[in-house]
Amino acid sequence: MSQPHRIAIIGAGPAGFYTAEALLKQAKVDISIDLIDALPAPYGLVRYGVAPDHQKIKSVTKIYEKLFGDKRLRYLGNVHFGRDLSYEELKAHYDAVVYTVGAASDRQLGIAGEDLGSSLSATQFVAWYNGHPDYVNLNPKLDMKAVAVIGMGNVAVDVCRILARHVDELAKTDIADHALEALRESQVEDIYMIGRRGPAQTKFTTKELRELAEMVNADVIVKAADLELDELSQAEAEKDINTKNNLKVLHEIVDQGVQNKPRRLHIRFLQSPKEILGEREVEGLVLEHNRLINHNGESKAVGTGEFETLPVGMVLRSVGYRGEPLAGVPFHEKWGIIPNEAGRVSTLEGHIRQGEYCAGWIKRGPSGVIGSNKPDAVETAEKLLEDLATLPRIDQKLSDPQNVDKLLKLKGVEVINFEDWQHLNALELKAGEVLGRPRVKFVTRSEMIEACTKSPV
Ligand code: NAP
Repeated sequence: MSQPHRIAIIGAGPAGFYTAEALLKQAKVDISIDLIDALPAPYGLVRYGVAPDHQKIKSVTKIYEKLFGDKRLRYLGNVHFGRDLSYEELKAHYDAVVYTVGAASDRQLGIAGEDLGSSLSATQFVAWYNGHPDYVNLNPKLDMKAVAVIGMGNVAVDVCRILARHVDELAKTDIADHALEALRESQVEDIYMIGRRGPAQTKFTTKELRELAEMVNADVIVKAADLELDELSQAEAEKDINTKNNLKVLHEIVDQGVQNKPRRLHIRFLQSPKEILGEREVEGLVLEHNRLINHNGESKAVGTGEFETLPVGMVLRSVGYRGEPLAGVPFHEKWGIIPNEAGRVSTLEGHIRQGEYCAGWIKRGPSGVIGSNKPDAVETAEKLLEDLATLPRIDQKLSDPQNVDKLLKLKGVEVINFEDWQHLNALELKAGEVLGRPRVKFVTRSEMIEACTKSPV
């Protein structure tokens, strides 16, 4: 009798779980899946990306957790693909592989001063306040009065909100303890959110913008004159319901006026960062004012030659995430994704790589909300299932899941399985319950691994 088809999914974030869900839903083909993640804890961007004051969004993990009720699915945490498990080993142990590693890195501005001490990416800052083990030691100093956040997407909004909120509000969340302490000491009073285009070209969603307007600790400041639209912007706003609603809320913010709250969030349109000033740390940000031109029917920002320097002590660029290449796997440098055809991995020349698939941000780029990964993963799973019958099988001597376990053990990898994670999870929830918080996160790998081996409480 032939063994179940062995499938590895690399990356236990939303795309990984939705791929597993779609594969498990079918009963036609006998499969067994290992969901592998470099970190001890599963859930990827839900645990380490979603803002701590957005707990409702995180409840999606309950759906993911239920999938482990199916014995065809195993969790292999703390296993770093490329270090603990090579591409060749992966291919030898699994009939099919799905890469769902997301976009771990960030896009850069490419301007002078970007490498100064307090010039950081939102990716780093977000990972730090969410307790990602690799960013525990980021220690951003928040001893400046003013900070600039570059970009007008939802990540920029998250970062601005975390900087603007009262620390007592954050203390009710699962924000990492080290970040809570740093934010308690924060001297930040003015936060500048800088957009290179206008109010009709914002990327954030209306719900998120409205949340900014409702903050108790910070006034949101928008200049009425900035909301006057040119013809093309007006047409763009007519076409897009989110833009239309954003404009409505921006007008409400202007009408609301300033209420002398302790902090101020200045939303600045039509300005591009040109240089970050300072010796070691950021001392200022040079901005060029822009105007919009019609570029093939889309609004494009061009500089006016008019400059301004903002006296900020920190710059957080939030201009998009970026995928990272995986050893042995094709990578499209410019787009920061794995080249693919509807989820089937291809070479850069377009030749399909048998038995290799991808889903989520590493497939389509860093766009969309968590739920957007579901149809994306379903498409990939469908292609995989279509191919499975004709894919060459691995050496059947290696098809028992224990073989990969033995290999990892031999290499000294401390694999965290789902039961181990449940121990860690229970401890975090318990620690949170005592303090009236959703959870208190373990933040270093060693703490996490130690907690995994403790009995559940
Ligand atoms: P994003 O939505 O693509 O926004 C990137 C922003 O950076 C845009 O405003 C863009 O402006 C700007 N930008 C790019 N290059 C720039 C440059 N060189 N100079 C100045 N500005 C520049 O990306 P994101 O905020 O990282 O979000 C990623 C995805 O995650 C999005 O789909 C987002 O909705 C989602 N997300 C959702 C939530 C939520 O639902 N609560 C939370 C976080 C993230 P242009 O438009 O001019 O290019």
